[in-house]
Amino acid sequence: LIENNAKSIWHPMAHPAEMRANPPKIIMKGEGVHVTDVNGRTLLDAVGGLWNVNLGYSCDPIKKAIADQLDALPYYSGFRGTSTGPSIELAYELTEWFKPEGMARAFFTSGGSDSVESALRLARQYWKIKGQSDRTKFLALKKGYHGTHFGGASVNGNANFRRNYEPLLPGVFHAPAPWTYRNPFNETDPARLAQLCAAAMEDEIAFQGADTIAAFIMEPVLGAGGVIVPPDGFMKLAREICDRHGILMISDEVVTGFGRTGAWSGARLSGVKPDMMTLAKAITSGYFPLGATLINEKIAEAFEGDQTTFGSIGHGYTYSGHPVGCAAGIAALAETKRLKLDENAVARGKELALALEQLKVRHAIVGDVRYKGLMAGIELVSDRDSKKAADKKTMAAVADGACEAGVMLRVSGNNLILSPPLILTTADVAKIAEGIDAGLSAVK
Ligand code: PMP
Repeated sequence: LIENNAKSIWHPMAHPAEMRANPPKIIMKGEGVHVTDVNGRTLLDAVGGLWNVNLGYSCDPIKKAIADQLDALPYYSGFRGTSTGPSIELAYELTEWFKPEGMARAFFTSGGSDSVESALRLARQYWKIKGQSDRTKFLALKKGYHGTHFGGASVNGNANFRRNYEPLLPGVFHAPAPWTYRNPFNETDPARLAQLCAAAMEDEIAFQGADTIAAFIMEPVLGAGGVIVPPDGFMKLAREICDRHGILMISDEVVTGFGRTGAWSGARLSGVKPDMMTLAKAITSGYFPLGATLINEKIAEAFEGDQTTFGSIGHGYTYSGHPVGCAAGIAALAETKRLKLDENAVARGKELALALEQLKVRHAIVGDVRYKGLMAGIELVSDRDSKKAADKKTMAAVADGACEAGVMLRVSGNNLILSPPLILTTADVAKIAEGIDAGLSAVK
């Protein structure tokens, strides 16, 4: 397996030579919050798969739901006017669950990048129906991540996610990330930073022309960019700006949905009602690929009265509403609610935050720690004053050190990313902290 992994799979983020020198982990089994690799080593998965395995690796109700659905109906299309029982039930559950955010209908996709793509397309189509075809542009935040499709890559706010794929969508522009550790204003006060970033958004909108902008997209907590937690109130200010200019707001909840931040959505945490929400990842806790784009009543109504764009095949994936995925989603949602994973994310998140602050005191290489619920970023720097980012070798050495200590971490740029399963216990939090401590000590 180790040999054929390098030989047969194209790994876009690990060079074959690197992989031969340092064989990557090949994961063979999972149980609870742990995974076991091909060498039989068991690791606490502090990444929760890829921000998605909220319920851990041995959730029997999801496994049973998948098995039962496979027996009943393994596939039928869910977008060409046909539906299946599970897709209707999950859509109902999602719109009920996200009613406080104003969500009224669900459209199913195959994952997060699809959900973003569908939301961007829906935004343009909405304005076409409304007779405002000039509203085609998109506004997003620097450091944001919205997937790998061309639309998503265009609204991504990190050069690394964009530069090899240009030209991207025209008419996409970015406002500064509301990031206290690094921002163009050198502002460390969160409330003042929120105001400055909101003013920069306003400025860009005025420059572009408000009536040319279809939608603004943001992650309530910017995940892949390094777990950047916007100041309290920023998302609300952004909503007010969108309202003032008639711009649709898309909350990309692919990571933040389903309890990760300690609330059922990042929008709810911020007291904001977006026009659309994009979901994926934890929707099935990683047990089946599935995503959803949710829309509010205003957009649903426009489509109901639509005579202009109706019937165009701009939406619809073969696996939209996949019955097995939807059955997994129904079970995952029920378990997430039953186990009150939002509450556990708050309680364990507090313990994790304390541990991270202590690591920052103990290790000078830690420049900043950021967290919300059970998502956290640890930014490593070679020097605290200059904030120079730690290099790739250091990042790999820290992750390897943590791995030696039995904890799986993810590296993103000069950040260590944590998004453990939400079923985490207090003992698991302590184990994660020990693992990171061991990793950081390894580069001292
Ligand atoms: N949006 C956000 C906020 C994400 O974090 C991701 C994936 N990390 C995506 C979209 C894309 O999701 P997927 O990888 O399922 O296509």
